[in-house]
Amino acid sequence: MKTPCIAACKNSHGICSGCHRTMNEIVNWRHFSDAERDTVITHIQRQTSTHQCPSCHAPAQCDISQGKATCWCFELEQRDTSSLVENSACLCRQCLTELPLA
Ligand SMILES: [Zn+2]
Repeated sequence: MKTPCIAACKNSHGICSGCHRTMNEIVNWRHFSDAERDTVITHIQRQTSTHQCPSCHAPAQCDISQGKATCWCFELEQRDTSSLVENSACLCRQCLTELPLA
């Protein structure tokens, strides 16, 4: 089974600071279809993206802007985004993981 796990898993308030999967993605990984796993992996590895991360300017993924009802970031504990410009685009997984909790 394909996995982005780098054997450095650490739950950082809802997201893994090692492989940057959300806890839901990690817990349900074995129930995902191959296509679902591929989608998550391409987002984490920045092979596909919806926009640029406002913090590090690397490709980032927002599921909402792709037409989904929820976004992967909804599963995370609320981060302190006050250092960001208001209404800026979503951070990438890596940057959001590093923000302090709100
Ligand atoms: Zn970023």
